[in-house]
Amino acid sequence: MYGHRRYLRRMAASDDHSSDPAFAFIGGRLWLNFVNTDDARLGIRTDTIASFERFVDWLRSARVLDADRADALRRRGAEQPSGAAAALVEARRVRAALRSLAERGRTDQGERTKSVVLVEINRVLGRSVGTRRVEALPDGGFLRSFVPVGDLFGGLIIPVVESAVDSLVLGELPRIHQCADRRCPRYFVDLTRSHTRRWCDMRTCGNRAKALRWRGQS
Ligand SMILES: [Zn+2]
Repeated sequence: MYGHRRYLRRMAASDDHSSDPAFAFIGGRLWLNFVNTDDARLGIRTDTIASFERFVDWLRSARVLDADRADALRRRGAEQPSGAAAALVEARRVRAALRSLAERGRTDQGERTKSVVLVEINRVLGRSVGTRRVEALPDGGFLRSFVPVGDLFGGLIIPVVESAVDSLVLGELPRIHQCADRRCPRYFVDLTRSHTRRWCDMRTCGNRAKALRWRGQS
């Protein structure tokens, strides 16, 4: 019990999603935040998980991993660079599939996209051997975790994939939108009651649009 409390305190200490400015947690869903790691900065497409270490940093920032497991993964990544590289390739492959789901899941080509993405999701879920847990967080939220058995690199992407499964099961795809700024590749789930969210972030894209409108009126 003591160990568990210590674990929760550790999670609380690192709850700040804005601690790593390279990552944007604006999607409202874990899988959309992961899709958004394929980001744009100043109009230039930028992969914010450019290395295995950055992928682990993202998983840590997204609270998918606790500090101990993140450290163990960084060590193992340094010892086994080929295994780490393969895990990153796998993560990017899943990310591309999930992006297509966000992009086209609710359009005319949605049915075909969904069937392709389901194959990918089931491929990942089918290979995973481990323990699924849910942890209560001090801020009142909950965290899904997956602790793989055996291969430390295995199953890192499982909580992300399960978050996409949740959106499919809950029928959320019609509420998923790309940012209204056409240069911005970010996706989010619109949870407003009025269905009027248009921007990934009011501090960046939304603010820019407001400034442009204001200049247009003056
Ligand atoms: Zn945006």
